Formats: sequence, C-alpha cells, structure tokens
Amino acid sequence: MSSTAASPGSATTAAHAVREITHWIDGRKVSGASGRFSNVYNPATGQVQATVPLASQEELERAVTSCAQAFPAWSAQPPLRRARVLFRFRELLEAHLDELAAIITSEHGKVLSDAKGEVTRGLEVVEFATGIPQLLKGEFSELVGTAIDSWSMRQPLGVVAGITPFNFPAMVPMWMFPVAIACGNCFLLKPSERDPGVSLRIAELLKEAGLPDGVFNVLHGDKAAVDGILDHPSIQAVSFVGSTPIAEYVYHRGTQNNKRVQALGGAKNHMIVMPDADMDQAADALVGAAYGAAGERCMAVSVAVTVGNQTAETLTKKIEERIAQLRVAPGTDPAAEMGPLVTGQHLEKVKGYLDTGTQEGAELRVDGRKSDVPEGGFFLGPCLFDHVKPEMRIYREEIFGPVLSFVRARDYATALKLVNEHEYGNGAAIFTRDGDTARAFAHDVKAGMVGVNVPIPVPMAFHSFGGWKRSLFGDHAMHGPEGVRFYTRIKTVTARWPTGIRAGVDTSMPTLG
Ligand code: NAD
Repeated sequence: MSSTAASPGSATTAAHAVREITHWIDGRKVSGASGRFSNVYNPATGQVQATVPLASQEELERAVTSCAQAFPAWSAQPPLRRARVLFRFRELLEAHLDELAAIITSEHGKVLSDAKGEVTRGLEVVEFATGIPQLLKGEFSELVGTAIDSWSMRQPLGVVAGITPFNFPAMVPMWMFPVAIACGNCFLLKPSERDPGVSLRIAELLKEAGLPDGVFNVLHGDKAAVDGILDHPSIQAVSFVGSTPIAEYVYHRGTQNNKRVQALGGAKNHMIVMPDADMDQAADALVGAAYGAAGERCMAVSVAVTVGNQTAETLTKKIEERIAQLRVAPGTDPAAEMGPLVTGQHLEKVKGYLDTGTQEGAELRVDGRKSDVPEGGFFLGPCLFDHVKPEMRIYREEIFGPVLSFVRARDYATALKLVNEHEYGNGAAIFTRDGDTARAFAHDVKAGMVGVNVPIPVPMAFHSFGGWKRSLFGDHAMHGPEGVRFYTRIKTVTARWPTGIRAGVDTSMPTLG
C-alpha cells in the first residue's frame, strides 16, 4: 500500500512500503495474511507511519486456538504463581515507561506526560491483580446442615476477549487483561486499529515476565474481527470499550451468542459549578478536563453547567484567559499541553460540530480553527461554546474533541435535571463549597462515577470503572472487584461425609512401622 492509497483510517489491499505492525500469537509476532491493512498515522505530522493488518477469520481461529490450548495449564497454576508473573510484568512496565509512552504519543498524539500517566493508571490495575490469591478467596459456611459444610469458589471462564478504543491504547487493555489472566483466563486482545503499536510491546513484556505463550494474544482488525469474536463459540466473555453505537451492537450480538459481555460506551460528562465554588479552581479544573488529551477522553468534561448567570460570566472569562495560554504542539514537545487529534477524519468530524453549533445558535466564543497551531498534523485549538441549549446536537452528541460547552442553569435543581436527563451517564462532577449540596448531588445524580471538586473522577484500580445509562451495557464495570466477578464464575459446593476412618481410630502413638 502506498501512503497515498488509502484515506485516513481506511482499509486497503495494495502493496505497502511503510513499517508493518504484526499480530502476536503464541508468544511471537505473526505477519498479517489477509491482504487487508489499515493506515497508522503520526497525528503530529499527518503522515502514515505504519500499516496494521486486519485479521481474517482464519487468523482469528489461530489466535483463539492458541488461547484455548494455553488455558488448561494456565488455569491450573496456583493464583500465587500467576500473581508472580504480574509482579514481574509490573516491574517491566515501570522500567519501560518512557518507551511505551513514546509509542503512544507517536500513534495517538497525546503529550508524553499524559501518555506516561496512562501507562501508570494501567500499571495500577496490574498491582491490583497481583492480589489475586486474596481476591479469589471464597466463602465458607460450616454446618449448613448436620455434618454438612458449604463453600463457594470463583473459577475462570476460559478464553475471553477484549476490544479496545484508540483513546487509551495501553490503559484500557490494562483495565481488562491483568484481572482476566490473574483469574486464570486466556486473553485475546483486539486493539484499536488506529494506534495498535503499544499492544505489541505489552505482549513482549508479558512474555519477558514469564507469561506462557498463548495466555495473551493480540489480533488486529476491524469489524470483521470484532464480529468473528462475537460469534466464536470458544470465546466465553467479551469486554468492549468504545463508542456507544458499537458498544450497544457488541452487547446485543455477544449476549445473543450466550457470551458474558461488558460494553462501555461514550459519554457527555457534565460539571456543575455552583455560585459558591472557588472560580479559579473550577476554571483550572475545566481547562484540564476539557482540553487534556485534546478532549479525547471518555471522562473528559465536555459540558460545564453554571448555576446563575454571574457564575457563567466569571467562569467563561477565566477560561478564555487560560485557553490563550495553552500550548498546542506535538506531544513530543516537552512544553506541549495539548497535542493533535488522532486522525484527519476525526479532526474533520470535530470541526463539523463547530459549524453545527453555530448554526444551532450557540455562541462560539473561542474557535480553535483560528488558533495558532502547528501545520501539517491533525491539530485544532481549544474551542469554547456558550449559551448551549439541551436540544442542540452539540449538547446531545459526544464530540470527543477539544470543545467545551457552557449551559446556563438558573438553579441547582435545573442543573441536576440536565445531567440526569442526558442519555449518557459516565462521569459527573460538582464544584461547590457546600457539603449539603455536594452530598445531595452524589446521592441523586444518575452517573456511574461522581466527582466532588474533582473534575475527572476516574476510580482507582481497586475500585471499579463504569458508567450508567447508555455509557455501559451489561452488569459489570471494569477492574476492581467488579472485574474479578466478570472474569470468573461462581461454584458452590455442599459436602457431607459419611462416617469415615474416625470411628476405628487407633489412639496409640503413631509409628512408621
Ligand atoms: P470505536 O467505537 O470507533 O472503536 C472501538 C473498537 O470497536 C475498536 O477496536 C474498533 O476497531 C471497533 N469497531 C469500530 N467500528 C466497528 C464496527 N462497525 N463494528 C464492530 N467493531 C467496530 O471507538 P473509538 O473511536 O476507538 O474510541 C472512542 C470512543 O470510545 C468514544 O466514544 C469514547 O467515549 C469511548 N470510550 C469510552 C470509555 C468508557 O470507559 N466508557 C473509555 C474510553 C473510550
């Protein structure tokens, strides 16, 4: 494939001159054999830097078979030994932090410090999973009947798969596989085809840590691979993270095929700012949460709901001042605070929302298309809309770019109603100095992750991550205790022993003779 043969993100079949990313099956790199590829860009330059193969059904079979063959031995390992592999993997992640972050930045575009933060948040799930002997401890009841005891245990499912989005190419897979493999499963990862490189390096580090071949495989692909996973009879469970339409599709197709599915979708995270909040603190929080990673975070704050007109006036001015100072540059620039968007296609989509919002009657106070940004890459400066109304598309839909919308509410009840009536319910935050309001918000808000004076309330690894409403399809959130439940099934044993050797026991001192 020549670099000009394919449009951004498109699949192609032509011969190619750039580096080819491979699958990872049975502990080694495997070149793609389907003849279909997708381009991987460097978003800071706009150039194609690699191609990634899109798997065929045959390649999927090979990867699933490899997982299935590894499962009996891996699941028979004591949890403590599985944990020791993860301890070594954790050390390797730390040692290779810079290298992993550099791969992420080169394919995703986010600034290096953010890429390191992403790996660290993933590493924390590995740390959680090293506690697997404790996490898998069952429950025991003595004397559920006369001379009858009962206990429950959690056992692995078998082959499980993860399908992940572009925006956290290391962290989101690490929400899944450390817990899955610690529980004794074998894991097939289908990363985003837009930034697939880091998954290969992770696979190599897992092998170096002592993970047996086949316990973790990486298969690149598009819809064909996803459908193959959802239909494959040997795959017991699927974890998905991505946009809501695809999450809903994955959930329905997977569950119709009797799989356990957790499918995390899109978001429109609101931050309510009460009139009593510290306005500088709120402005700092909003700028970081709206424009960090160019707004390509599922927990990005994309809507500020101000209570009272004065709050909106004060806050929008403070945000404009801060936006003017934000340095938009390639992620490799040590001073960069915001990098490019992931592809040219995505950049055009986000720009399209700026036109839509203006046509709908919102006030575009800062237009990032006019910002001073580097040429060549997929850059867009921070954008700020004011006077956004709930019926507008820019309010209802996830934009997934550096676009913050202000919605003005007259009181707290109106603000809360807005959050609760939105179709998404991933994260929601409130900024206030009033404990009573904060407590009521935490109790009443319809969202899975709630921040009180914390703009991006991503739960730590030992809690679980997941939204409500159309931000999560399925019963389980990811990692933490929910992750262990998702990747295991419960078995309860009830046992009674008939009279044994006890009755005839010899009480004299035992001897070997
Ligand atoms: P996406 O839905 O385009 O892709 C996600 C995965 O689905 C990828 O592996 C992709 O290859 C696959 N896919 C794409 N099109 C498909 C199709 N038609 N059929 C089957 N599979 C398909 O998402 P994205 O653009 O990579 O990621 C951004 C989205 O992910 C945003 O909506 C964001 O909110 C969401 N996200 C959510 C969370 C969360 O925790 N809720 C976390 C991260 C990202």
